[in-house]
Amino acid sequence: MPAYEYQCQSCAARFERRQKMSDPEVESCPDCGGQVKRLISAGAGVISKGAGNHSAAPSCEMGGACCAPEGGCGEMCGCDN
Ligand SMILES: [Zn+2]
Repeated sequence: MPAYEYQCQSCAARFERRQKMSDPEVESCPDCGGQVKRLISAGAGVISKGAGNHSAAPSCEMGGACCAPEGGCGEMCGCDN
């Protein structure tokens, strides 16, 4: 399930919500009730796996580069590269 990051326009609080694609966007801040804007997330969200491109460092499920791109990270970060 992809995680979306939001930022409140009123108090600038940032928070993350795991939502289905079909779920409506969060519209109000849990802290102050102000209007929130969805941020474009760099790591979380849809990651294509198994593209067979070995020139790029593998990505972890947690987002970002794999912690051990050379020999596979095994249990180190929980991704299955
Ligand atoms: Zn707020």
